[in-house]
Order: sequence, then C-alpha cells, then structure tokens
Amino acid sequence: MPLQPEAQGTEKSVLVVEDEENLLEALRYNLEREGYRVHTATDGGDGLELARRVKPSLVLLDIMLPTLDGFEICRILRRESEVPILMLTAKGEEVDRVVGLELGADDYITKPFSIRELVARVRNTLRRTRHLEESPAPEADARNYRVGNLEIDLNSHEARLAGQPLNLKPKEFDLLALLAANKGRAFTRDQILEKVWGYDYIGQTRTVDVYVSWLREKLRADPTTAESIVTIRGVGYRLDG
Ligand code: CA
Repeated sequence: MPLQPEAQGTEKSVLVVEDEENLLEALRYNLEREGYRVHTATDGGDGLELARRVKPSLVLLDIMLPTLDGFEICRILRRESEVPILMLTAKGEEVDRVVGLELGADDYITKPFSIRELVARVRNTLRRTRHLEESPAPEADARNYRVGNLEIDLNSHEARLAGQPLNLKPKEFDLLALLAANKGRAFTRDQILEKVWGYDYIGQTRTVDVYVSWLREKLRADPTTAESIVTIRGVGYRLDG
C-alpha cells in the first residue's frame, strides 16, 4: 500500500459523507490506497454523528444528502471543530455559500471530478491545515527561545530584544512565548485565545489582534523582529525567524 509521506507515522483519517454508493466506494478504495483510514456515511445525520465520534482528519461532504444536507452539516461541524471540510458540489449548486465565510468549508470540488484530482485535493487540504493541528503549549521547564534578536526566557519570565529587557504584560509574554516555542507554526485566533487566555475567551478573537499589535509596537525597535510576527489572512498568526 503506497503511503504518502504525510500519511506515514500518524495515520490520517477521512470521513466521506456521500449517498451515491458507487462514488462512495470509489472514494473509499482510492483514499485507502493512499494510506488514509476511511469512514463512510450515506446519510447526513449518520455523517454528522460519525464526524463527532471518530474526529476525522478531514471530511469530504456531499451537499444533497438524506436527513441532513451538507450545508447544515458543514455549519454545525464548523461551530464544533476546525476539521478541514472539502465539499463535493454538483454543477449549479450554490458554491458561493459553500466557500463563503458563512459556512467555512475549506475547499470544494465540482462533480463530475476525477478521483485522481480529488485525492490530490484531499492531500493538499491536509497539508495546508496540518500546521493548525494541536501543538503542545510550551512546556513549563522549557528553556530559552531565540528568534533573531529576540530572547525569551521562560524560567525567569523575561524577554529581551537585542539584549534590552522588553516590558511586556503577562499575556503579551505568554502570547510571544507560545509563538516562539512553535516557530513557523500558524495558530488560529481561537487557538491562541484557548492557549493564552483559556476557554472563557473563545470567540473574542479581536483580543488577539490587539495584543499582536501591542507586541509589534514593543518589538518595533528591531523592525526585523517586529515583522517576524506574520499575519496569515483568514487564519491567524505565525512567528517566523
Ligand atoms: Ca447526493
């Protein structure tokens, strides 16, 4: 069984919700060949329940389905998780709604499509979203992080820019430490809220933007470092260095 590099080690699972049995089986066969574990449902309600139970790495979602349509499933899943969702649309369906902010699907593919293209889309969507997966918060005994001229010492709770202490508020420090400990990894605003502020703040994503702007301001003495906090449109933030 040929394994794609990204499917090795941690096995990725794909949930396919599709009521056309022939298409469903073709998708199952080809995705399994690529090394994915495949779960299937032919009914919207079952699909939603399965998504909640198996927590797949990605959901392939048809739109016209018995009991609960793909739009509704997408809307519900998006409220509950960040699982990547790839919609299978038929010509003439409301693609704008699918990819619009309202529903938050990650991508769509219009029927009829080639299985080969679909598998490539699955792979690309997983690759794009892989960096969003849960990453450990910096460990309590972690040492120092260095990003360019910026030094972060978690033990002493100090940050220095080009050797000069930075006067950071506690949450500014925590946010900077989170990004620095996971350099190159993108976080959504909700993930940042959860890790830095805790669950109570989920949804107040503006808070993150405000703190990032304060951090950039405090890092401005060293423009390269200030620019290392990268805004990823429609996603969140990442620290490069
Ligand atoms: Ca259908």
